[in-house]
Order: sequence, then structure tokens, then C-alpha cells
Amino acid sequence: MAYSRQLNSWLYSDQPQTPVILIADDDPSIRLLLRHAMEKEGFSVVEVVNGIEAIQAVEKHQPSLVLMDAVMPEMDGFTATSTLLEINEYRDLPVLIITSLDDDQSVARAFQSGAVDYISKPVNWSVLKHRVRRILHASETDRQIRHLAYHDTLTGLPNRLLFMDRLDQAITRAIRSRNLFALMYIDIDHFKVINESMGHDIGDDLLLKITDRLQDCIRQSDTIGRLGGDEFAIILENLQVPEDVTLVARHVLSGLSQSVTISDLDVNISASIGISVYPDDGVTLGQLLKHADTAMYKAKEQGRNTFQFYTQEMSELAMRRLELENSLRNAIEKNELMLYYQPKYNLASSRCWGMEALVRWDHPEKGLILPDEFIPLAEETGLIVQLDQWVIRNACEQLSRWKQQGYAASNLSINVSARHFQEQTLTQLVQQVLEDTGLNATEIEIELTESTLVNNHANARAVLNNLHNMGLRIALDDFGTGYASMAYLKDFPIDTVKIDRSFVWGIPEDKENMAIVKAIVGLADSLDLALIAEGIETKEQVSFLNSIGCSHGQGYYWSKPVSALHFEQELLKSGAS
Ligand code: C2E
Ligand code: MG
Ligand code: MG
Repeated sequence: MAYSRQLNSWLYSDQPQTPVILIADDDPSIRLLLRHAMEKEGFSVVEVVNGIEAIQAVEKHQPSLVLMDAVMPEMDGFTATSTLLEINEYRDLPVLIITSLDDDQSVARAFQSGAVDYISKPVNWSVLKHRVRRILHASETDRQIRHLAYHDTLTGLPNRLLFMDRLDQAITRAIRSRNLFALMYIDIDHFKVINESMGHDIGDDLLLKITDRLQDCIRQSDTIGRLGGDEFAIILENLQVPEDVTLVARHVLSGLSQSVTISDLDVNISASIGISVYPDDGVTLGQLLKHADTAMYKAKEQGRNTFQFYTQEMSELAMRRLELENSLRNAIEKNELMLYYQPKYNLASSRCWGMEALVRWDHPEKGLILPDEFIPLAEETGLIVQLDQWVIRNACEQLSRWKQQGYAASNLSINVSARHFQEQTLTQLVQQVLEDTGLNATEIEIELTESTLVNNHANARAVLNNLHNMGLRIALDDFGTGYASMAYLKDFPIDTVKIDRSFVWGIPEDKENMAIVKAIVGLADSLDLALIAEGIETKEQVSFLNSIGCSHGQGYYWSKPVSALHFEQELLKSGAS
């Protein structure tokens, strides 16, 4: 049974056990009288005759209070008291020193040793009785308060505060014993979804079941704590080799993955575990925690329901990401984002008829960073919504400026991340930007990837329908690389399919790719969709695509994405649009 539960039952059980009083005195007659007085009060009594025996008896009998004679052979009462209270486990044990020496110095020594009070011989029995009762009451109240402050109310496990203290103690013990220990960080996968969809009562029940299962997986000497909502942590001490943790981690994962029945519902859960080992992965509390946390995120990234040991590379990667994340947060405000434009061409006439806006990050130290390096990070952190909003507004403003300057510019494509389709704000934003710039909705095409449709089915459909009804065109980007099927093309209001550049590259050598491209062209034709081929780099590719009926394309063959200024000088001024 875990420590906290033991304490719980002691503190709150209906039938309290009889408190044990330890009497340490070398005078047999005093012991006899003290025993008599204490037993009359309903306490159990253990007797010893010196300080050394007192310390041993505390370990053996776990008394609620010690009556300690000051002067004894072998070890006196002051030394025994201070020695006892230095031991972490007993630091709150109340000791009452009984002394015939009621001079000021002895009284001071009694308090210095950590005793809660003193009483002088000859003993006034009535005063002793009251003092013992008062001290026991105060110490129990103190324990209750401490229990509440240091334990999680739902599971009764040590909370973050107590767990940190235990971790600190584990470090101290490991330094002394030169043993290894491991810190396991456990995060329940998708707990938030369960909690929100099934209700908090079920969420609470589930956390209790998880607690039971975790407790079944560890030894009694290991500490387990609840650090937050669905985060648990375990300290595994006295390991021979770090690999010992592997067994426990496997055990925890399989224990948690058995389905749980709550209110007749079968709930399936899994967990992600990160592990740091003392002293290899850190020697301070902070390092061990941070590294176990980093490893846990890695485990999540690897598809959850798995565990990961911390490695040095993870830390470097985490640092770089954190750095990038922080600077990306400021990039928008600091005006470090910029848009490049890649022209789209009509294959038959070889004339430019539009452009795709592609974001770049002009980093003050790192220079120009391409989207593949920061878009995934922006998506993970949610910054993508702000980023996309910036892109939509700025790209539209640029198109509007070009038109005002008299260029025949139109057909602007803007990439919008899947993540954005979870927000209801996209339609309003587009509407507002169109109003502000005076552009016509039909001049804008929104490019989205297949994952948008696969992952956000319901939301994506609503948002896409709104945009489509407003008059915008919708293009499915990187077609053929994901899971989108013909069903998606029919189900969603898609106007254009963009053939992914990986299919275009191999042309004309790669017969398989050519067959795929032909099939996509046929599909688009039968569904009456417009087509654009991406990544066209050679004349042969243009001819082949043109010959099979693909009408439009973009790629380095004509132009890489270029700055707005370059775009207007080279492409718009040449009158190609
Ligand atoms: P995408 O939308 O498929 O954009 C086309 C990518 O192919 C661009 O990369 C472009 O530079 C590259 N490309 C075009 N022609 C050729 C070619 O002939 N050969 C080769 N090798 N590559 C070519 P870029 O600009 O690095 O963008 C990468 C991806 O980042 C984009 O793929 C898009 O998914 C995403 N992205 C770019 N800008 C934005 C944005 O403003 N918002 C969002 N959400 N995503 C963006
Ligand atoms: Mg695109
Ligand atoms: Mg693409």
C-alpha cells in the first residue's frame, strides 16, 4: 500500500488505532509511574532505558509521542532527540523532555534539540496528562494540514510539491549510495479529449483507475506522484542498470492499455513516457525533470503509447525549437515575415496568368528561412493562425496595389494551413480583407492540403462551403501525396487540383509517374476540375503535360518564387500577365 494511503487510513479511518507513547528513562520507578499514567489515558506504552534504545524503538514502534528523560546513560535525552529529529521521516515526531534539571540552560537545551516542550520532575501528573493530549492533538492537526497541502485530493498521491521533495531526497540518497535512479514522466494520451467528451466525473474515475494501475506496476519503495491534470511521475530507486527502467516502462504501458470500464463504458487509454536517469541525464532536480519532459514529448511525437529515454540530441533539438518558437512569436510583430510570389503559367500559351504567395521569414541572424523550416512549428504551437492571417491580408493588399498600379494581375493563390480550419474565424477574416482591399472573391484561390479534409472533416466542410459560396476558388495542394481520394474531390467544393511536384520530376523518364499524372488529369477532367502541375523544371515536362491536357503549371522552368518587387519588374512589367 502506498505511503499516502497508509497515512490516509491512519488519519481518517473511523476506528483510530491507539496511539503509542515511547517512554525513555533509566529510572525504573519513574517508568512505572509514567506507564501507569499513560495507560490510564488509553495510550499504549513502550519502555526503553537510554537514548540509543529510544532511537531504535522509534523505528520499530512508530510512536506518536516520546517522553524522553534528559539524563540517561549511553546517550542522553538531548542528543537522542536531536539525532532522531534529523532523520527525515521523524522530523515531525513530538518529543517531550522530562528533566529534573529545571535550570534555564537545560530548558534551552531541550528546545535546541528540537523537543516540543519539557516538563520537570517531580512530575505533576495532571499537567503531564494535559500536555500530552494537547501535543498529540496539535501534531495530528498539523499532519492533516500537511497532508492536504502535500497530496492530490482526488488520488491521494503526493502532489507536485511533495514529489519534488521526494525527488530531492532521492538525489541525496543516490549521492550517498552511488546508486542510479530514474525519473519517469507519464502523460496520458488524449486525456483532454476523454475529459471533454465524456465529462469530468468519468475523467476523475479514470484518473483513479490509472492511479491503481500505476501503483500495481511499481515496488513499494518507489514514489509515485500526480504532477498535474493527466501527468504522473515515478521515481525508481536503486537501479543496477538504466535498462531496468525499460521493464517498468513496458509494464506501465501494458497495464494502462487494458481497457477500463467506467459507468458501463469501455474506455481505452494509452500513455507516453519520458525517462531521465540520475546521474547520466542530470544531477539536479531541474535537469532531471526537464529532460524527462523532453523525452516524453519525443515519445508523443513517435506516435504515443511508447516510452523514450532522454538523449543529449533531444536537448539540443528542443533548445533550437524553443529558440525558433520564441523568435517566431515576435517575427510577425517585428515585420520579419515577407511574401514571395511564384508565377503560374498557361501551358499552351506560355503566358503568366497568376501567382502563388509563399511566405518567407527574414530572420535577423539566420537570414532567409524557408517555410518548411517554420510552418510545422507554427502549426504545432498554434502560431499558424496568426501567420496565415498575416499572409492572407498582405497577399491581398499586394494584389490590390498591383491592380491599382495598372498591372493586369489576378488569380492569387494563398496557402492556408489545416489547423486554421479548426477556427471559425477564417471566413470572417477573408470577408473583411476583401472589403478592405476591394478585391473580387473570384480573384483569390485558397490552397489547402489533403490533411485538412482528412482530419477536420466536419469543420473543414463548413468553412470551405462558406468560402466557396462567397466566390473564392478552392485548390487541393500537393495532390496525390496524402490520403485524399476521389470521394474527397466529390464531397468538398474543390475547384482545382495541384499535381504534386514529386510526380512531375520524373517526367519523361519515369513511366510510372507519367501514368499517375495521366490518371490524375483524367480524373480532374471527369470531375470538371481545373489542373495545375507543380515543380515543372524542363521543357519536356511542359510539352508532356500540355499534350495530355493539363492546362496550367508553375515551376523553376519559368521562375522560382521571387520578391514582390522582382515579380513586378520581371513578370508584370513584361506584360506577360
Ligand atoms: P506548396 O504550396 O506546394 O508550394 C510550392 C513549393 O514548391 C514552394 O516551396 C516552391 O518554392 C516549390 N517549388 C516551386 N516550383 C518548384 C520547382 O520547379 N522545383 C522545386 N524543387 N521546387 C519548386 P516553398 O516556398 O519552400 O514552400 C513550401 C511549402 O510551405 C508550400 O508548399 C506550402 O505548403 C507551405 N507554405 C508556403 N507559404 C505558406 C503560407 O503562407 N502559409 C501556409 N500555411 N503554408 C505555406
Ligand atoms: Mg501551395
Ligand atoms: Mg504544393
